[in-house]
Amino acid sequence: MAYRVQPLLSADRIAERVGELGVEITRDYSGRNLVLVGVLKGSFVFAADLMRAIDLPMQVDFLGVRSYGEGTVASGVVQITQDLSHPIEQADILLVEDIIDTGLTVAHLMKLLATRSPASVAVCALLHKPARARVASQIDYLGFTVEDRFLVGYGLDFAERYRNLPYIGVLDEASQGAEEENLTARTPKTSGLEPPKS
Ligand code: 5GP
Repeated sequence: MAYRVQPLLSADRIAERVGELGVEITRDYSGRNLVLVGVLKGSFVFAADLMRAIDLPMQVDFLGVRSYGEGTVASGVVQITQDLSHPIEQADILLVEDIIDTGLTVAHLMKLLATRSPASVAVCALLHKPARARVASQIDYLGFTVEDRFLVGYGLDFAERYRNLPYIGVLDEASQGAEEENLTARTPKTSGLEPPKS
């Protein structure tokens, strides 16, 4: 069975929203000690675009986190796979997440960062799936609220694939079972690389 990705948010729509978030963040962080902390791997594309939409002196760092296995179901287990490269004492941290789903990852990271005496910690998420929240999440800047569908593209993966799509789409549920069974067996017939229709 072939994979299918239904386009949901076009590259243009994402770029427009990222620009708006950059303007808001620029306004709010003027004169502060801004450090953007991207949560790897999913947020690296968003973080790269967002930082270029922020017109301020700032730093960028990354935290590596694993919260999903090779499937699409939240395990609830958050593992740090890569720590920050610098101390964050007195820094104004803006945690950049690709998507907040159950909220467990952000909750865990907020606790971790708070132990390192930053001046402040805020959260910027590109996507939020409120239907699946298991804990209340602090979200200071939000790109889009989305329905409970498994999304890929613009940094978001399914089993490490699709991160390179320039748009965000819904991974067709009918093809997921086949994907899991055939992960190592074959290459998909349709890559999902076709341009978005909206
Ligand atoms: P949470 O801890 O909020 O449940 O999960 C956050 C992480 O789960 C995200 O950073 C992302 O890596 C992954 N995740 C949640 N929903 C999706 C989704 O729809 N698609 C993909 N590719 N990853 C997701």
